[in-house]
Amino acid sequence: MSKIIREIDSLHPARIEVSLKQLLKNIRVLQKFMGKSLYCLPLKANAYGHGLHAVAKLAEKAGIDYLAVAHLSEGVQLRMAGIQLPILILSPVHENEVSVLVDHDLEFSISSKEQAESIRKKISKKKCRVHLRIDTGMQCTGIHPQHVKKLLSYFEREKCFELVGVYSHLATADKPMDLFARKQIDIFKGLDFSNKSLIQHICNSGGMLFFIDAHLDMVRPGLATFGYLPDPYEDKIAVAPCFSLKAKVSYSKIVQKGERISYGHTYKVSKTSRIITIPVGYGDGYLRTLSNKGFILLRGKRFPIVGSICMDQFMVNVGDMEVKVGEEAVLIGKQGNQEISIQEIARLAETIPYEVLCLFNERIPRFYIQ
Ligand SMILES: *Cc1c(COP(=O)(O)O)cnc(C)c1O
Repeated sequence: MSKIIREIDSLHPARIEVSLKQLLKNIRVLQKFMGKSLYCLPLKANAYGHGLHAVAKLAEKAGIDYLAVAHLSEGVQLRMAGIQLPILILSPVHENEVSVLVDHDLEFSISSKEQAESIRKKISKKKCRVHLRIDTGMQCTGIHPQHVKKLLSYFEREKCFELVGVYSHLATADKPMDLFARKQIDIFKGLDFSNKSLIQHICNSGGMLFFIDAHLDMVRPGLATFGYLPDPYEDKIAVAPCFSLKAKVSYSKIVQKGERISYGHTYKVSKTSRIITIPVGYGDGYLRTLSNKGFILLRGKRFPIVGSICMDQFMVNVGDMEVKVGEEAVLIGKQGNQEISIQEIARLAETIPYEVLCLFNERIPRFYIQ
């Protein structure tokens, strides 16, 4: 079965390539950077679009200490793939999830006394391993710092819980030395858990880069692991992207001056040109807002996307170049000495690199390059 799937995948006209070699390099660079702190790799949303299983397998081999995902289903998928690392569920879990969480040895986050109480009633046999999530200013989930002490003594009383960690999440750490991030870190450090053997963690990628003093016991860099850093830090740490997207030209024709292209006829051909079709669309997760804005690389040169992006394809104006069906275009990544980066696409689409990556679904097969 898996052989047939691989064969069919290789016939698909588009492919995502993930360089495991580059990903491993990134992990090594960050392991060195964080020193003694544990490395928790967030793998939510299909490992930021890179593919959950393959990335988790590599992480385990590379000596990553912890994995984090948003939901129970993602944690169970990792266990079913044979991953044995500790796994932390970041988003709030419901009491109905407790038995599955425990059966699969998944750690989860607790953000309130009420949540802890409703979960406690559902715990039957084994202890639950939990991390207390503290809200230091993101206003997302997490208990207010003033109630932390009470909840800590609750966990000491209620033996069905094994409290393994305490953590918080930074709201503005993608900007260098941001003052609000500094404040969040200071609030967290001020809580003083030092007499308890808890894993303390607060840093995402930005926090890890800009606040060395906040690495504490564990660091949770997602985006940086995949090779993307906030702008001013691109040269400081030698990580690089490992994700690229390629597609074979599926159609090629001459379109006469004055004709209009694709849904809504948003683009008019001003000079008779060759228009090619690329078999990737918003149904794959390629942002439709790139219509009439984005570019592709072909024969090492850039060409513009023309007209609206369709569900399964889009058109590109290659001028008077003689392009043939089957030629390889690069939509994300390098070709010759040109590059289209995730950051460039995010800028054009007025979003962030995270969203560009996460939107790629399972329709385009992923290939892992050693
Ligand atoms: C997603 C996530 C991270 C990773 O953030 P990056 O900016 O990708 O490094 C860390 N911590 C929590 C709680 C998260 O949800």
